[in-house]
Amino acid sequence: MVAESLIQDMPWLQASVDRFHKLLVSERLPHALILPGREGDGAQLLAQTLARTALCSTPELGYPCNHCKSCLLHQAETHPDYFKIEPSGASLTVKVDDIRLLVEKFAATSQISARKVAVIFHAETMNTAAANALLKTLEEPPGNALLILVTEGTRPLLPTVRSRCQPITMNRPTLAETSTWLESREISSRVSAELLEALDYQPLRVASWIEEGMQPHWEHFRAIMSGVAQMQVTPVKAAAECKDVGMIDQLDWIDWQLSRIVRQAALEGNLPQPQHSRYLEQLSAMRSELVYSANVNAQLFSENLFMLWQQFNRQS
Ligand SMILES: [Zn+2]
Repeated sequence: MVAESLIQDMPWLQASVDRFHKLLVSERLPHALILPGREGDGAQLLAQTLARTALCSTPELGYPCNHCKSCLLHQAETHPDYFKIEPSGASLTVKVDDIRLLVEKFAATSQISARKVAVIFHAETMNTAAANALLKTLEEPPGNALLILVTEGTRPLLPTVRSRCQPITMNRPTLAETSTWLESREISSRVSAELLEALDYQPLRVASWIEEGMQPHWEHFRAIMSGVAQMQVTPVKAAAECKDVGMIDQLDWIDWQLSRIVRQAALEGNLPQPQHSRYLEQLSAMRSELVYSANVNAQLFSENLFMLWQQFNRQS
């Protein structure tokens, strides 16, 4: 299981753990940290580890000991001083009510650990109301509290929030690190080079894909894409055929293929065609729609994607 992955096996995260360790031992840990990083590279896993370390009574070089009372409670998911917030609802956003509840809990004294820790996953999905509800806590943090905001970077955080948090940088894995990690989990042989590229070499994303048996969906999607490009499949039928594939994956794949064709043309010395940039802009607008709109109709979104793909192929 990806969830059980050991952060020690992810060398690209080590620099962030070291940095956190230094802050912790020198008692310079701020009240709020921002962790910008992709979920598929292990950002959430890193945040959870740092939270456990901050609560652990005998942390070891930035890692939790895994056997103190705090660590055991954390493992049982019953730690009274740990709170987490994740995006919820159809719009998958961090809700203002959840933030209010967190602020309330944060104001109380810690029960068993020396501090209270909260992690907000996908903090970039907080709307203005949620961010404002958090602001007072950031301005006047309760004693011994640590807030970790994990942001995927798909949209900016409000400057008022960002300026009150200290960033912990997170490296992306190198290609070699991704390969080694996938090999150690015996995933390499089950993933094609193309899928790896389409998932942007994010090791955890690849692993969860394989675990969830998504490879056949990918092969199917590629076949449909090819049918649409050759005018054998209509965008409406294509969208219906691919309804089991998430909108973000569909967008990523078409974006990936299209960019690849444009790049290839440039490599072959062909002049950039004006319509190429137009299509790339359209894809980028669709990405914004997906990020910012609460209720995107999946079938329509997918139809538009395939329509764009078909027009691109007709003109290229
Ligand atoms: Zn511990």
